[in-house]
Amino acid sequence: MLMSFDTLLPLPLGEPSPQQTVTRRQTVTVDVGGVPIGSAHPVVVQSMTNTDTANAEATALQVAQLARAGSELVRVTVNTREAAAALPEIVQRLADIGINVPIVGDFHYNGHILLREFPEAARLLAKYRINPGNVGTGQRHDENFATMIEVAREFDKPVRIGVNWGSLDQQVLARLMDENAAAGHPKSPTDVTIDAMIVSALESARYAEELGLSHDKILISVKVSSAPELWQVYRQLAPLCDYPLHLGLTEAGMGMKGMVASSVALAPLLIDGIGDTIRVSLTPEPGASRKLEVEVAQQILQSLGLRQFLPQVTSCPGCGRTTSQFFQELAQKIQDYIRDTMPDWKAKYPGVEDMQVAVMGCVVNGPGESKHANIGISLPGTGEDPRAPVYQDGKLLTTLKGPRIAEEFQELLEKYVEGRYGAGS
Ligand code: SF4
Repeated sequence: MLMSFDTLLPLPLGEPSPQQTVTRRQTVTVDVGGVPIGSAHPVVVQSMTNTDTANAEATALQVAQLARAGSELVRVTVNTREAAAALPEIVQRLADIGINVPIVGDFHYNGHILLREFPEAARLLAKYRINPGNVGTGQRHDENFATMIEVAREFDKPVRIGVNWGSLDQQVLARLMDENAAAGHPKSPTDVTIDAMIVSALESARYAEELGLSHDKILISVKVSSAPELWQVYRQLAPLCDYPLHLGLTEAGMGMKGMVASSVALAPLLIDGIGDTIRVSLTPEPGASRKLEVEVAQQILQSLGLRQFLPQVTSCPGCGRTTSQFFQELAQKIQDYIRDTMPDWKAKYPGVEDMQVAVMGCVVNGPGESKHANIGISLPGTGEDPRAPVYQDGKLLTTLKGPRIAEEFQELLEKYVEGRYGAGS
């Protein structure tokens, strides 16, 4: 039977498609060293160093690298007296080069001792991350936790109650396992563990408030290393509180695996409006830059339309119509150029992050995509006339040819940015 077009079309012709927008979960706002975190504010990108914090020079250098890449908070481990003692020098070194990104202290096992012994470190840190599974057991647990909260109150600092699957509070887990065993219809061990993570986070937050910490000084994270479990734990937690939530797939892994796993894990939650700050926990390839985790986090938020950090470069995948590597090299070159130039552009050209650039392989989709971009180039495919039309704001600007196509396109791009986003525009 033949179907009419009316039955096939999802909407009557002429009606606009529903706009896909994200409605953020409502939270309080927590101020972390001047960076507001919560649903009224953009989702914040953060990262963590992997230097020995006791080495102030190396740590300051890496914090600077992460901050320049766009990390809006940088966490450092504070695991020893030497690490805590190095914090003033780290902050001073950063100030000397004009970087004032908030530094977050990551504490496990001995945070109560270090925060008390090193008040200058406690004062300089913008936030304390407390893992309730790593602050001791029994009476000690409560005392150590209370000490850290007292210091937070004293220096007016927020805390992140950061629960991790791998270091979950064993007393909470044992309690919930016992309750589950006694229940008529016991849950799976995974479900009980997820419940225990949420209980541990919320009980710790409530205890912190009982100790006098303000409601708007608390953020929560409940990190696991598998995407489906991350969705489960955050979706269960989200309706139970209005604390801002820090999202991250812990131990995401290396390279492509880590980037895909993190994107898959974070995107569904962010689309649901869950998540006020994110970190992508990549294991760097040997010798690779730590800043990749910042770039991936930015790209996740940008791809979801939640934030715009830098101009988007649209490039086709290439196919048999464009066998030359020249096209791939140009796409890479333009992408790298934009990323490297962005800190400078951002200061000089407000709004430049919204620019769209197209680098296309041949005439099939090239001119069309180029016309939709602010500026776009369509390279000649195999057998095509060796000319590269450049479109600007939907109109043919010029046609490039010869060996300097890449350089000339870069010059046109720079000129466009200056004209469109510069002071005189
Ligand atoms: S634009 Fe041309 S080269 Fe690029 S994928 Fe399409 S057909 Fe292939």
